[in-house]
Amino acid sequence: MNILIFGPNGSGKGTQGALLMEKYGIRHIESGAVFRQHISGGTELGRKAKGYIDRGELVPDDITIPMVLDILKAQAGKGWLLDGFPRNMEQARKLHEALTQAGMKLDYVVEILLPRKTARERIMGRRLCVNNNNHPNNIFIDAIKPNGEVCRVCGGALKTRPDDQDEAAINKRHDIYYDEKNGTLAAAYYFKDLAARGETAYIELDGSRTIGEIRADLLAKLN
Ligand SMILES: [Zn+2]
Repeated sequence: MNILIFGPNGSGKGTQGALLMEKYGIRHIESGAVFRQHISGGTELGRKAKGYIDRGELVPDDITIPMVLDILKAQAGKGWLLDGFPRNMEQARKLHEALTQAGMKLDYVVEILLPRKTARERIMGRRLCVNNNNHPNNIFIDAIKPNGEVCRVCGGALKTRPDDQDEAAINKRHDIYYDEKNGTLAAAYYFKDLAARGETAYIELDGSRTIGEIRADLLAKLN
């Protein structure tokens, strides 16, 4: 099963990806990891990409797309979940073309929908339990709201992660994601149009629900 997943930072996309990986044994391929794998592997594409990165320039699509495709091809037959790419409509079109040429079917495209304000709150509301990273607490999510000032599970002290409180950085990422003309949503809608023509299946998930509810909905729609 080959899946492409879209969702803003704060939508729980990474968590759903990990759950799918566990359930179907498919590999979760995150775009940053594609770059790291090529660069550390010293491939020709990786060397070219590193040149652009070292100069502080964007890596062009004619390097990025073959790098992504290479990693996807290595998973052929086992299935993959691609996350974090494409980020604009042009990349979406080129990726689709490359997949078609490689004879790889895109079975599902998943979009986790979440209003921008909610996505921002979900990031900024995260609180980490000093006793256990797996004790989820979030001041903006009723189901996992801390018990006053302390962890709802164990009563431990809570802290924040600096990245989660960097509102400017969160806004910058969301500016790119929520841009329906030039950003990531434009890429998602490219595939939505394909699905309307029967070329793939497009699954929309309401991201305002709990992780468990979203997961159940996703699994039901994948079958
Ligand atoms: Zn705790």
